[in-house]
Amino acid sequence: MLHVELRSDTMTRPTPAMRKAMAAAEVGDDVFGEDPTVNRLESMAAEVLGKQAALFVPSGTMANLISQMAHCGRGDEMILGNLAHSFYYEQGGSAAVAAIHPRTVPNQSDGKIPLGEMEAAIRGDNIHFPRTRLIALENTHNLCGGAPLEPAYLKSVGDIVRRHGIKLHIDGARMFNAAVALGVPARQLAVEADSISFCLSKGLAAPVGSVVSGGKEFIQAARRARKILGGGMRQAGVLAAAGIVALTEMVDRLAEDHANAHRLATGLAGVSGLELDPGRYKTNIVYFDVIKPGLNAAELVAALQKEGVRMLAAGPRTIRAVTHYEVTARDIDHALAAMARLMK
Ligand SMILES: *Cc1c(COP(=O)(O)O)cnc(C)c1O
Repeated sequence: MLHVELRSDTMTRPTPAMRKAMAAAEVGDDVFGEDPTVNRLESMAAEVLGKQAALFVPSGTMANLISQMAHCGRGDEMILGNLAHSFYYEQGGSAAVAAIHPRTVPNQSDGKIPLGEMEAAIRGDNIHFPRTRLIALENTHNLCGGAPLEPAYLKSVGDIVRRHGIKLHIDGARMFNAAVALGVPARQLAVEADSISFCLSKGLAAPVGSVVSGGKEFIQAARRARKILGGGMRQAGVLAAAGIVALTEMVDRLAEDHANAHRLATGLAGVSGLELDPGRYKTNIVYFDVIKPGLNAAELVAALQKEGVRMLAAGPRTIRAVTHYEVTARDIDHALAAMARLMK
């Protein structure tokens, strides 16, 4: 039976070109800075994003925590959206591990934090207050349906952080999806950021790893933070080799994933008992609600699985589907046909 994996773009397995590059990778001890393949990935990433330096890290979660630790001291405050991955899905690591106080502002449905509320949340100098040091954005915004943040908005946020002498971190786990969807170079989405992270292990299909980029001093601090968190890896070139293939071969094709997500969203919108606004989804993530009486998201997901289609129950009524390079237009049609049968 056809197996259509739509739970997450993290399910992507390394491509044949990655397997080959991994097997052939030149390696050394990266904690000593001596893995030539890691060094090459880091300089490529810095170049692509227009930053001075970059650091290869085990995961997107660690990339965010490392960046927070490099920008903030204990008791400092970070402002972020209430639906940020960093706030929602990372075990509160900023507080639990780094003693950084998270202050949330409600996200709009397009993934933005309203500029007025963002600026109003920045603390003045007062002995009662923690010091605001950092604003964190997410691009694309996962829980807001893969919404991409465009350069004009990022510029406005950049103006705010500079006006207040604080820093901007962008959790760009899927920033290349944003770049492709908006038709802008990735570096244009990084220009306002003091640090920006992206995942190699999602739509770019590498097996492991994220990269965080920024200025030289920031990366030095990030390197220390990576070490204390146990993220210093040794012959990590076998992983970085796949990351290099991800950056060179897997970015432009993200447009196919967006087209397939659009195909899926449009099809789902025509199924009675499901509710979504297909125009909302601009990248590779689609959320929809089950509104048929007597059926919940978990039950529908279980029924789909029997049809060879995997999706994720993201709430009592909400289901998430994510496209990626192992999903074809034909797979989408198979998923839609299965959905139509089940909802009849
Ligand atoms: C997946 C994701 C992360 C975390 O990445 P992991 O590699 O799973 O730790 C961070 N931020 C966003 C927006 C994500 O989607």
